[in-house]
Amino acid sequence: MELNWNQIDKKWRNKWHEAKDFETDPNDKPKKFITVAYPYPNSPQHIGHGRTYTLADVHSRYYRMKGFNVLFPMGFHYTGTPILGMSKRVQANDVELINAFKTLYNVPEGKIKEFVDPVKIADYFHEEIKSGMIEMGYSIDWRREFTTIIPAYQKFIEWQFRNLKEKNLIVQGNHPVGWCPNDQNPVSQHDTLGDVEPDFTEYIVIKFNIGDKIIPVATLRPETLFGVTNLWINPEIVYKKVKVDGEIWIISAECAYKLEFLNKKIEMVEDIQGSELIGKKVHSPTNEDEFLILPASFVTATTGTGIVMSVPAHAPYDFQALEDIKNGNQKNIDGSLRDEVNKIQPISIITTEGFGDIPSLDVIKRMGITNQDDPKLEDATKEIYSKEFYEGKLNSNTGEFADKKITFVKEEVKEWISKTGKSDIMLELTNESVKCRCGTKCVVKLLNNQWFLDYANKEWKEKARECFESMNILPNDIRTEFFNVLDWLRERACARQHGLGTKIPWDNDWLVESLADSVIYMSFYTMAKFVNSGEILAENMSDEFFNYIFYGNGDSEIIAKGAKITTEKLEEIRNEFLYFYPVDSRHSGRDLVPNHLTFFVLNHVAIFPKENWPKEIVVNGSVLMDGKKMSKSMGNIIPLRDAVRKYGADPIRLSILISAELLQDADFNVEIISSIKNKLKSMLEECIKFNNPGKIGIEPEDIWIQSRLSKLISEVTDSMEKMRLRESLHHILYGFDSDLQWYMKRANAKNRDDISGVLNKVISIRVSMLSPFAPHIAEEMWEKLGNSDMVSKSSWPKEEEQTDDIAVQNESLLSSVMNDISNITKVTKITPKKIIIYTSDNWKSKAYHKILSGVISGETNVGAFIKELILQKETENVKKDPDFVKKTLKDILSEPTDLRKTKMRAGEIDESKIISNELSSLIETDYGIKLQVFSENDSEKYDPKNKARMARPYKPAILIE
Ligand SMILES: [Zn+2]
Repeated sequence: MELNWNQIDKKWRNKWHEAKDFETDPNDKPKKFITVAYPYPNSPQHIGHGRTYTLADVHSRYYRMKGFNVLFPMGFHYTGTPILGMSKRVQANDVELINAFKTLYNVPEGKIKEFVDPVKIADYFHEEIKSGMIEMGYSIDWRREFTTIIPAYQKFIEWQFRNLKEKNLIVQGNHPVGWCPNDQNPVSQHDTLGDVEPDFTEYIVIKFNIGDKIIPVATLRPETLFGVTNLWINPEIVYKKVKVDGEIWIISAECAYKLEFLNKKIEMVEDIQGSELIGKKVHSPTNEDEFLILPASFVTATTGTGIVMSVPAHAPYDFQALEDIKNGNQKNIDGSLRDEVNKIQPISIITTEGFGDIPSLDVIKRMGITNQDDPKLEDATKEIYSKEFYEGKLNSNTGEFADKKITFVKEEVKEWISKTGKSDIMLELTNESVKCRCGTKCVVKLLNNQWFLDYANKEWKEKARECFESMNILPNDIRTEFFNVLDWLRERACARQHGLGTKIPWDNDWLVESLADSVIYMSFYTMAKFVNSGEILAENMSDEFFNYIFYGNGDSEIIAKGAKITTEKLEEIRNEFLYFYPVDSRHSGRDLVPNHLTFFVLNHVAIFPKENWPKEIVVNGSVLMDGKKMSKSMGNIIPLRDAVRKYGADPIRLSILISAELLQDADFNVEIISSIKNKLKSMLEECIKFNNPGKIGIEPEDIWIQSRLSKLISEVTDSMEKMRLRESLHHILYGFDSDLQWYMKRANAKNRDDISGVLNKVISIRVSMLSPFAPHIAEEMWEKLGNSDMVSKSSWPKEEEQTDDIAVQNESLLSSVMNDISNITKVTKITPKKIIIYTSDNWKSKAYHKILSGVISGETNVGAFIKELILQKETENVKKDPDFVKKTLKDILSEPTDLRKTKMRAGEIDESKIISNELSSLIETDYGIKLQVFSENDSEKYDPKNKARMARPYKPAILIE
């Protein structure tokens, strides 16, 4: 029978809701405050979003069972430009977007009409996402929900901004930002297509003269000026003569466009075709040298100025472009010019170990490059650039810089050129093709007198570094990534002209940027409850109020009066903050490492005292669909709510979690879903079957399985603590199956009818450990097991203080003998008529344990063991059988360390008794014959093949006839 997952989901969702179990207030228990990056409601959630929230929910539910008072709240981030952009597109009747709303997101047509108002878009998807979260069973305290445009939140953000400004961490200045020319707004990751963070690189522009005009080239390697042999233009490009701050420059149109955003005054003069420049000569800015302008196809209009200086010895493109001319593969060159080109020789200016005089030539040869359009030139360039940068030294032909390392000389050369007045600076996007969500290509803009968060501030970075060092980061490998981010982080624009959000309190023309108003909001959850209930009104929330709640500053009576609340209420709000802060765990996707997560820490260390700094960050990878990246263009996005309706919440939760640990990409596919459904269904059936807690037997197998259960609990708990949820889930769902099979085999062989107690205990523990992962079906199972309270309210199972080592050893002996017998029958193809087992002599057991204890303390030498054993009376028989020592040592060394220790603790066991008592029933069941057991030293034994002498402890000899 197929289960009705939606019905089960709904049943338990309603019960949790009625019980208000996830509404968390301060109490006497220790707390855990778990938060996830709140969603930006401009589209419905898909399965990929589900991963981060599910991880946080499992974390919350686990801690609740561990006895913590867990707060897991949720808000909605309305701030920013994308929603505004969408609303503009609806106003403009954008068919593509409106169709996406209709077909992809199933938004009713009447609703879409309302989307001309951006807040309506946010409200709609807010409700959509929230419903999805409830349907997924997230244990969220919804009383604390808020959006970032409610007045109380805006008061909070104003306080945050004034606070940072007083601390001189918000500064006014001129800094470059990624910029959308269409929106006239700075752009960051959340404003770009594909969520790319715009990053930029500073080029030095070197001005070559051509008559009274200037040909500027942009380079990252000013030191290579000493190795220039010519300049490159692309003959196909139409260049511009432009007046730039009073000078006439010849540059590409694209360059002219970009320079305007860098505050250059640009006036167009006239066009000039690239080919017209061929063969003209330019003057070096630093000496009397003259260089030819030559044609090259690799030169593009979009990079730098559209003109390149040629350093053939150290730049593979330049070398190859020269070769192309010399080989006659360049049509724009006539005879006399080619003669001149033939005279051009690369000038070697850098020596690097591993390269010859002309590194370009070395690499081009090695890579088999034959023309300048070969894409391998890109790799060649990177290789030389990086090797020369880190290991190269300038040659004697570089004047005052001779012998200096490239790594350190760049700035010096830059300064030297700039002293001649023949240089400038140009900023370019490093990731050149970044587009704003409106579709416009982004540029770098130098913003003047703008508001910036001073993330370049060294002291601030140092404090953040201290926080990152002291906090728990899961997985730990990602810690260095945070340090790298801190290293390159610079001032960041925190004001925007358009969008939803809060106005900069001292400059009302500007809005607070969306990555700046979402960094300390976790603290707002502690008061949101009082805001939502109307106990405190936004209009009465002053800076003094926030200073009291967060810092305890000021006189409570005066502040309470100002806030129009009682002093008791004021204290209650303050206590709520003191109780829940700091954040114990912050969950987020990996893409937020270089921005949100880093800013979250920076702002916390700036605003809150050390005791309120965050304790943990948990970062997860993304979700693939059938092994492929999910994207709108691939059409493989499944909205989360659709998936819940189709598969049920728990199968989705488990399939997202079971395929990957934190940072790996999870893979969602239908096969996993159906195998999980089958597993859950069979567990549910077991719950119905074994719903009787009953008495637990005291047979060896009962004792054994409880020891195994204890080990399972300790393994799962250990993985949970490390957030290794895939591992935990495997243990819970599948890790106990073979133990259970063995137990059933043992019990059935004895025809026992008193095992329901054990089975009930096993399944109960598995269900309770499953419940953080699959909360709905686990409740259903728990109920079927006969419990009247909910499993979400039960305690996380505890491992037994001591496991029974002897029981573990005995069962392992039995199963290994059964295994050996089955292997023998398989190999010999005998249908056994007789099975005889010989257990080893007593002295062997003594010798075994001496060897075991030797191995545990580090001895592995056979000779040493033999010597020692012979000397002692009880093991002197070793003399007759030295091979026994060798084999036993091998047996022991092939076992895992923890098994060796268990055997050590268990001590000598009476094998013949265990085998006679416990193995007979198994042999009878499996082979339908009676087992015969002899001791090696039994004089009456039946031993036609002389096998008994082969017996070793834990390895009895077996004869099958
Ligand atoms: Zn734009």
